[in-house]
Amino acid sequence: MRNFISELEQRKEAGLYRVRRQVSGPQQPALIADGKGLLSFCSNDYLGLANHPDSIEALRTALSDTGLGGAASHLICGHHEAHQRLEERLAAFTGRSSALLFSTGYMANLGVISALAGRGDTIFSDQLNHASIIDGCILSRATVRRYPHGDVASLGAMLAETDGHKLVVTDGVFSMDGDVAPLRALAKVCREHNALLVVDDAHGFGVLGPHGQGSVAEFGLSEDDVPVLVGTLGKAAGTSGAFVAAPDVLMDYLVQKARTYIYTTAMPPALALATCNNLDLIGQGGERRKHLRSLTDRFRQEAAALGYSLMPSTTPIQPIMVGDNQETLALSRALEAQGLLVTAIRPPTVPEGEARLRVTFSAAHSHEDLDKLLQALAYCRPVQPVPASAQCSAID
Ligand code: PMP
Repeated sequence: MRNFISELEQRKEAGLYRVRRQVSGPQQPALIADGKGLLSFCSNDYLGLANHPDSIEALRTALSDTGLGGAASHLICGHHEAHQRLEERLAAFTGRSSALLFSTGYMANLGVISALAGRGDTIFSDQLNHASIIDGCILSRATVRRYPHGDVASLGAMLAETDGHKLVVTDGVFSMDGDVAPLRALAKVCREHNALLVVDDAHGFGVLGPHGQGSVAEFGLSEDDVPVLVGTLGKAAGTSGAFVAAPDVLMDYLVQKARTYIYTTAMPPALALATCNNLDLIGQGGERRKHLRSLTDRFRQEAAALGYSLMPSTTPIQPIMVGDNQETLALSRALEAQGLLVTAIRPPTVPEGEARLRVTFSAAHSHEDLDKLLQALAYCRPVQPVPASAQCSAID
């Protein structure tokens, strides 16, 4: 026990101790955290669908049809027609052969990576990939080589000197920096070196692409270019769970081999039906995406003018770089004192010296909400602009 206690104390001293806020009521954009009303700028509900009345109604109806629980894993007796329907809808929506549901994005990455690569294989992973990708790589027992963030030339050189089965894995939109992976160039280099490309589009799905199909569609790429696409449903899709979309043969393989698919209870079927409803809302969400973009663009202009240091992101993930852990916590607390919830992100989620506030926007925010954030930021304005850091590594 003593070791654990002293490590916890060290974390507190370093400003790295994590706390959970207890939230009540509907969660976006205004919420109650620890009994206090706050306007939130840290959810991943990018399209504001988590509280959409049609989705809630769809879930109510679905619950009376399917019951509450998932009952069993998919391969025992848990694969409900509701799951099948959502998988078919997701495959069609993303323009892919088939899709397979997972209970969370974390489990999807763990399952897919550890199924598609093993001992003797090599996985090439972007330096800023999400923790679930990092953990999936470890679980696979393959050799893991991290390439510098978004650096396709370095990746190409690493691929050229490696024989055998190669997997390249990247976030579509990087969760802590908000930038988009160079997918066109990645697809090309993977083709040249016979590597299988896996894209985790947790933060692009619903937000990017002509109809919200995600970052792969944003680049006009297809299943031939990016054979394996992971998408999550707990962010822009407003529900919970995840999917993998891929050619039929890979899907068949994943059903046989992905342990986080095989050995876990299926998501509640009612949730699958409610997600089908939200998929329609994503497809029809052009105005929401336009509004989201206008909030993001305005924030970037005005926060930069206030002297804040931002990252080169055009997505709803807009980190304010601070650097020091305690200063980041202090800024988060100062914003909270003005009624705003913007969580501080510190190491090990980001590298040492790169603590930040991860501001995220949702189509549920109004421009008046943004006014409030900008006014509070003007009040807490840094004396001197903090220089933007070059890179970050592990992700929340
Ligand atoms: N991938 C990325 C890039 C993420 O940011 C996250 C969640 N933060 C996940 C996967 C995990 O998704 P889920 O929350 O559905 O487990």
